[in-house]
Amino acid sequence: MAGKKFIEIKDITKVYHLGNERVDALRGVSLSIAQSDFVAIMGASGSGKSTLMHILGLLDVPSSGSYQLHGRELSDCDEDELARIRNEEYGFVFQQFNLLSRTTARENTALPLLYSRDGANPERVKELLERVGLGNRLEHNPNELSGGQQQRVAIARALTTRPRVIFADEPTGNLDTASSHEIMNLLKDLNKQGITIILVTHERDIAEYARRIVHMRDGSILREETNEAAGPAPSLIERPEIPPLSKRAAWRHDLRAFGNYFHLAGRALWAHKMRAFLSMLGILIGVASVIAMLGIGAGAKDAIRTQFSSLGSNLLILRPGARQTGGVRMQSGQTSRLTVEDGHAISDNIPAIEYVSGTISTRGQVVFQGQNWNTQIDGVEPDNEIIRDLKPTAGRFITGDDMQSRTRVALVGRTVVRELFKGQNPIGEQIRINRVIFQVVGVLPEKGSTTWRDRDDVIVIPLTTAMYRLAGMNYVNAIEMQVREGEDVNKAQDAVMAYMRQRQHLPPNAPDNVFVQNMAEMLAALTETSRTMSVLLSGIAAISLVVGGIGIMNIMLVSVTERVREIGVRKAVGARRRDILGQFLVEAVAVSITGGLLGLALGAGAALALSVFAQWSVIITPQAVVMAVGFSALTGLVFGIWPARKAAMLNPIDALRHE
Ligand code: ADP
Ligand code: MG
Repeated sequence: MAGKKFIEIKDITKVYHLGNERVDALRGVSLSIAQSDFVAIMGASGSGKSTLMHILGLLDVPSSGSYQLHGRELSDCDEDELARIRNEEYGFVFQQFNLLSRTTARENTALPLLYSRDGANPERVKELLERVGLGNRLEHNPNELSGGQQQRVAIARALTTRPRVIFADEPTGNLDTASSHEIMNLLKDLNKQGITIILVTHERDIAEYARRIVHMRDGSILREETNEAAGPAPSLIERPEIPPLSKRAAWRHDLRAFGNYFHLAGRALWAHKMRAFLSMLGILIGVASVIAMLGIGAGAKDAIRTQFSSLGSNLLILRPGARQTGGVRMQSGQTSRLTVEDGHAISDNIPAIEYVSGTISTRGQVVFQGQNWNTQIDGVEPDNEIIRDLKPTAGRFITGDDMQSRTRVALVGRTVVRELFKGQNPIGEQIRINRVIFQVVGVLPEKGSTTWRDRDDVIVIPLTTAMYRLAGMNYVNAIEMQVREGEDVNKAQDAVMAYMRQRQHLPPNAPDNVFVQNMAEMLAALTETSRTMSVLLSGIAAISLVVGGIGIMNIMLVSVTERVREIGVRKAVGARRRDILGQFLVEAVAVSITGGLLGLALGAGAALALSVFAQWSVIITPQAVVMAVGFSALTGLVFGIWPARKAAMLNPIDALRHE
């Protein structure tokens, strides 16, 4: 025997349980292998050769017995350490080659480096492929290579991390005679360079390349022969012991691995573009609808808020009828009509109310020099200038005289100036509103538009003119009041209600027939509505994310099942559990984030389209974007973890044997 003690196994047994049947694949095998040994294990089919090989190669664990490497007992090593040994010290060559499909010879050869501490090394990969005679086949996929060439790629792959041992389980089993001998000569050369070779074969002429031939039968070693014909043992080439990874190096290694997962995920998704797209549809649609609805909701909220804030919190609006809450009439009561005199009586009798203006609102057809425009006509009193902050930018507002004489004067909003007067100065011009001639005396300040309407598309005329000359009514729609600075709005509101009951001689048990809206209340109601909407949207989002997540989980399970052999190969060349876990988790998250981003684009697009065609203002907030991406990533993580764990926990040999 050449060399010093290297791998030493004692009394190794392996028992398989198939239902109730017990298979003793190995019945107490002891074997000692020295460095630079060339050992062939022979025996009939079913004698336990492969089982022994897998245990020697740390792809499988024995049922009992001891395994020592350099005098170190491995039976209590953790998974990561075994993966490290597989990566740095051992190399494998399988009968079925086990190359990754749709992956070039170069990438297959580089695979162990993905999990090694040294990282990518294109020079070495090229050099190795040249060494096995494939220098001109670097970019070929396995299906473009012959069996012998595939096995050479496998040998190159086994050599990438400069292992001390190569395990070869029937490496020539699928090859013709000529290729078989080429492969064996390659292995023999490697042995000459000091690499230990352990080979399983059932062919005598293949076994004769080895210096030691171990014969097995029924799970035991029958005898061993020394094959002098194989020539002398090579002189031992010392390779320095590989030091354990430092904390920093380990950290760098993990970081690099993480980068690789993205690359792998990208490839996996690209290989199944349609499938990936379909599986992200759930998340895509969910995120898109939530983004669109949030955008519209935020736009509406913003519009209402600006409208309200321009009114001020000390505005009260008295309306006929019963109080409405959230659009629902709470109680049916007898309605009454409000008059201009009601407003003046309130102003005279309630000191807390400073300004009062009855209002009516109607629509009218406006004509100026043959141009037509349909707009909103507001009839108001002079106080409305203050209450609604309508100080004209040019000309004057409605006066008391206008009210007295029902003069036909009008103030026009910006939109009317633009549409009817084509931007020219309208003051002094005559217009017809529903065929009645008015003179323009002022231009209203710009108010901006809201979700529902353009607040500059309006004409303001004296209330009395509007009532008697345009609308033909002797009552008002509402009475707007401004509470005196420093007075309590709620108290003023109560005072108005009490005064109106008294003024209308309502008996104490009769329900109110008018009501007062106060802006603070309306804002609160609005906030409440938008909160309800948010809750509803969150519900939709949650459901769609769960549905989307289940879609992703499903596709990831399919992906893992399809790629069990790939997982086996990766583990055989040294991937740790966390490498496999990371690879599949990143893949799941990549699917879900892509879905989320596409959904974001679609949702924002839909919202934008709505804002253009329906003239709704739409706001896509950064929070909505962050939420969409964050939640979709989270979904991928949560629903990807089970499939990824399933992949990570696979036993290397079970994965490799998977059909
Ligand atoms: P060889 O490689 O010498 O042909 P193996 O080591 O593959 O033989 O198998 C040895 C024995 O163990 C056989 O009887 C086989 O049926 C059994 N065996 C191998 N693998 C399994 C397994 N995963 N489950 C159950 N029995 C197994
Ligand atoms: Mg076998």
